[in-house]
Amino acid sequence: MKKFFYLTVMLSLAIFTGSCSDESKKIDANDIPTEVATGKISEPRAGDKPADNKTGESKPDDAKIDESKPDDTKPEVKPTSTIQEGKDYVVADDNFSNLQLTDPTIPVYDKYTIWERQEKGLPVALPELAPYETESVVYLTFDDGPDDKVTPQILDILKAEGVKATFYVCGNMVDANPTVLKRIFDEGHAIGNHSYNHNYNQLYASPWSFMEQIIQTDNSIKNIIGVRPFIIRAPGGASGMFTANFYTMVADCGYVEHDWNVLTEDATPSRPNASQQINNVLKYLGDQPPRTVILLMHSNGDKTETAKALPEIIHFLRDWGYKFGVVTPMTPQPW
Ligand SMILES: [Zn+2]
Repeated sequence: MKKFFYLTVMLSLAIFTGSCSDESKKIDANDIPTEVATGKISEPRAGDKPADNKTGESKPDDAKIDESKPDDTKPEVKPTSTIQEGKDYVVADDNFSNLQLTDPTIPVYDKYTIWERQEKGLPVALPELAPYETESVVYLTFDDGPDDKVTPQILDILKAEGVKATFYVCGNMVDANPTVLKRIFDEGHAIGNHSYNHNYNQLYASPWSFMEQIIQTDNSIKNIIGVRPFIIRAPGGASGMFTANFYTMVADCGYVEHDWNVLTEDATPSRPNASQQINNVLKYLGDQPPRTVILLMHSNGDKTETAKALPEIIHFLRDWGYKFGVVTPMTPQPW
């Protein structure tokens, strides 16, 4: 068994070296596309691939929301965290040997970037981890933030309800709102990576284009909270946007992608109000709600109806016996 583990690690490293760690592909300040480095988003063009209707993820018009640029006047984030490693979150050890966790409410992070792992000769690809399926768990997920308006409202509600959630953040939003990202971390929620600028044309030009934005966003996150996520969510959803090569790249670089199986449809063009969003969640849950619910919502600027709908969504899911978890590499895939 031990032998198999080492073989897996070595094999993963070999694959990684081939597809992810090529020196020529290393990211540095000069290497990052201008748009990524500045957070500037080009307007969606006619060729922008729309999200799969089934998924209800952000449409290209959502990219406009992400135009906030990092600037020199952003507030300095002070290291005032009372959150405790081990108790409130887990940091992977060098060889990932502490990652088979049994508490689905504890976020998991890495203290190394993938380049630091590579330079130290440590494994980069994750070992096989058994999915957490012991009980019924709902994972509330909020994409496209953090903003400085709706995300704080959502954090207030989660705090009042005593519930943990997962925020899939965009790097340009992190750079613009570092104190909000710090608050998400300090209040024990999980932070996932949702690309740097959410621009479909750039992200899906190639697997490496996608990975460049993941790594850039990791750096933005790690600069603020000191650790980086293993969990990612592809804008538009991997099931609608990834080809096989993207899945291989993501796995070789040690990330785990999760789509969703329930959504409020808050990013669809119909812009449902709070009661419609609640009905949408009930519709997706159906007569036989799944044991693992990964619920897609959004927390960027215009999603005030999502915040309004959230308390009631939490109440009925709690009444139905769901535990509220945070997404980790052990979270089961939603389908
Ligand atoms: Zn998104």
